[in-house]
Amino acid sequence: MKTETIAIHAGNKKDESSKAVIQPIVLSTTFERGIDGDFPGGHIYSRASNPNRAALENVLTKLENGADAAAFSSGNAAGMSVFQSLAPGTHVIAPDDMYHGLRNQLKILFAGILTFDFIDVNDLDVLQQHIKPTTGLIWIETPSNPLLKVTDIKKVVAIAKAHGIKVACDNTFATPICQQPLALGADLVMHSATKYFGGHSDLMGGALITAEKSEWWQKIRQVQEMGGAIPSPTDCYMLVRSIKTLPYRVKGHVQNTQLLAEFLEQHPRVEAVMYPGLPSHPQHSIAKEQMLAFGGMLSFIVKGTEEDTHNIINKLQLFTRATSLGGVESLIEHRATVEGPDTKTPRNLLRVSVGLEHIDDLVDDLEQALS
Ligand SMILES: *Cc1c(COP(=O)(O)O)cnc(C)c1O
Repeated sequence: MKTETIAIHAGNKKDESSKAVIQPIVLSTTFERGIDGDFPGGHIYSRASNPNRAALENVLTKLENGADAAAFSSGNAAGMSVFQSLAPGTHVIAPDDMYHGLRNQLKILFAGILTFDFIDVNDLDVLQQHIKPTTGLIWIETPSNPLLKVTDIKKVVAIAKAHGIKVACDNTFATPICQQPLALGADLVMHSATKYFGGHSDLMGGALITAEKSEWWQKIRQVQEMGGAIPSPTDCYMLVRSIKTLPYRVKGHVQNTQLLAEFLEQHPRVEAVMYPGLPSHPQHSIAKEQMLAFGGMLSFIVKGTEEDTHNIINKLQLFTRATSLGGVESLIEHRATVEGPDTKTPRNLLRVSVGLEHIDDLVDDLEQALS
C-alpha cells in the first residue's frame, strides 16, 4: 500500500465489541487473564504494552518500512533508550551539529559510561579516522539542525557495515514522507514525534523504528519496558489521529518551504538560505538522490548583526517566536540563544518551521519584517 493509505489505516483497529470505527482509548493499566492463565487480549500491563501503543507502533513500523517500532514519551526518551541499550564502554560517533538535547545527554548523562566523538560525519575521511575497535554506533541526523546539512546515508552505512557498526538516523526533520533511512541501509530510525507526527504542537512523543528484530532491538525493547518512558494511551491515540494527515501536511509544508526559500534567497537583506531543495545548497545533489521531498525546515542568515536579526523577528506578525517545529503554524527562532554558550550556530541565523498558512501571507509578513 502507498503511504497515504498506510497513514490512515495501519494505526487503527476497529473495536470488535462496540463496532466503533475509530479505535477507542484504553485507559486500563491492567488486563484480565483467561481461565488458563494466559492473556487473550495480548496485553498484560500497560507499561509493557497497550492497545493504543500497539496501534501507534504498527503505523510507525509501516511508514518507515521497518520490522518493528517502539513508542516513547518524548524524542529524547527514544534517543536515551538507544544509548542505554549499548554496552558500557561502547564508542559512539555523532555529528558535531547533533540535536543539542541529545548531544547534552551523551556529554552529561553518559559521561563515564559511553565514550563519544562529535565530528563532521559528512567528511568521510574524518569519519573513517574516528572509528575504533570499540565503536558500536554511528549516529546521524539529516537534514541537520539548524544548518540543514545533508548526510549521505548510503555512504555512511557502507563505512559502518565494513566495520560491523550500527547506524541510527534521527529522521525528525525529514519524516518518512521525505526520507526513508532504513531503505538506504540504516539499522534504526529515531523520531521526535512531538514534531511532524503530532503536527499541532500539543503533545510530546518519540519513536524508534528498526530494520530488523535483532538482539540489539530486544535490548531496546527491554529499556522501553523496564525504563517505562512510554507515551500515555491518550497521547498514542492523538498521535495515531495526527498521523492520518501526515502525508498531506508534509506535502503542504514542503511546498510552502520551497517557495519561502526561493523568496528569501533573492532578498537583499538575506545573506544565505539553507534548504536542501535549493540548487545552491552544497549537498543538493545528495538530497535529490536520497530524499523523496526536501522537508519543511529552513534556516537563513541575515545580512547584519545579532541585534538586526532580533529586530526582524520582533517585527513578524504571523510567525511565532518559539522553539520546536513541525506544527501547522509557522515558528521562527534565534537558534544560537536556544542552544546555549557552546553553540557553533551563527548569531545572525534564524530557523524557520514553515507552517501550512497560505504562502502569500507568509511571504508578505517576512517582506514587511525585512524591509
Ligand atoms: C525535538 C527534537 C528531538 C528531541 O525530541 P523531544 O520530543 O523534544 O524530546 C530530537 N531530535 C530532533 C532533530 C529534534 O528536532
